[in-house]
Amino acid sequence: MSKGVDVNLENVWIRFGEFVAVREANVNINGGEFFSFLGPSGCGKTTILRAVSGFLEPSDGKVMIGGRDMAGIGPNKRPTALIFQNLALFPLMKIWENITFSLEVQGVGKAARRKRADELLDMIALPDQGDKLPSELSGGQKQRVAIARALCAEPDVLLLDEPLSALDLKLRQHMRTELREIQQRVGITFIYITHDQGEALTMSDNVAVMRAGIIDQIADGHTIYNDPATPFVASFVGENNVFRGNIKSIDGDTALIDTNRSGELLARIAPAALGKMNVGDPAMMFIRPEACNIAADSAPAKNRLTAMVKHEEFEGQIYNVFLEGSEGKEIKMSLVNVGQQRQSAQGHDLTLEYDARQAIALPAGDLASE
Ligand code: ATP
Repeated sequence: MSKGVDVNLENVWIRFGEFVAVREANVNINGGEFFSFLGPSGCGKTTILRAVSGFLEPSDGKVMIGGRDMAGIGPNKRPTALIFQNLALFPLMKIWENITFSLEVQGVGKAARRKRADELLDMIALPDQGDKLPSELSGGQKQRVAIARALCAEPDVLLLDEPLSALDLKLRQHMRTELREIQQRVGITFIYITHDQGEALTMSDNVAVMRAGIIDQIADGHTIYNDPATPFVASFVGENNVFRGNIKSIDGDTALIDTNRSGELLARIAPAALGKMNVGDPAMMFIRPEACNIAADSAPAKNRLTAMVKHEEFEGQIYNVFLEGSEGKEIKMSLVNVGQQRQSAQGHDLTLEYDARQAIALPAGDLASE
């Protein structure tokens, strides 16, 4: 099996007439990495994948695979294989024949093809299933067969375009682990595109978060989640309570933000925004529901706010409390392990507090839902 190779996008622009689908993309993917492009529908993920696979040429910039400029090199000549959401297994061919179809086209003999199919069936943890038909496999098993078929051609880079979106939720979650395991076993570069942040964060070494043709941040999942570079990333990846205001003061990497109705609140300035925020600037701060707790008392503090409880919901391990936030938005607080013992505070004022290191301040900008 071949090793993974680097994939580099250098200043890539992709235009369709006047419309800019991808704007100045600079991405460095290391050989053997599981890399995801994450973003909402229409942000340009598939377009980038098509430029890597050779189905379209960038309007400007370079696509490099294994250090080679791919300009003018068609899809069949690139060391890539592509898996779509629609698997398109041949229904009347046995699994092993499906997997090695490309070898049959090349005229490889039956015994050699069968041997290769068995190796790949081992790789995807489906030994002894080669003589079945696609209709005899589950959705997840068919998904793995599609991966084996793509790997049969020994690509250096496997491109996956939302391959799990047709599966039900449970299977999708199971397949995340499977895909990651297969990638580590094969050791080649995987480029995965998805609009599902859970998928991107659980499987990837690194993630590029995209919106409207622009890459906002490239980092590992922890950094994307804990240190978002823009309000878009903060609001797209996971849940967040958003407060708007102006910077009142800055002390090192900590900002005090005047949020009007919720008072003055402390937050850590995101690393990407350090040195770029000044007193008086419009800012946004983001507090995760799970970073909030009920304060021991209602004494005012810069990491506390008091608001009326609108409703509460018991979700097993998590107890969600929804407060009446400023600007008509609600504030969500997720309490862990309080169970049913908690007394409902619905209709009453409640003071919540949060760890100011876990609250993030960024310059005001567009949110994912806007
Ligand atoms: P989804 O998750 O819905 O597949 P995506 O992020 O993959 O979305 P793309 O398919 O890359 O989005 O499309 C990005 C933008 O470029 C969209 O606005 C789309 O309409 C536009 N686009 C894509 N291909 C073409 C084309 N051949 N001609 C004109 N516009 C195009």
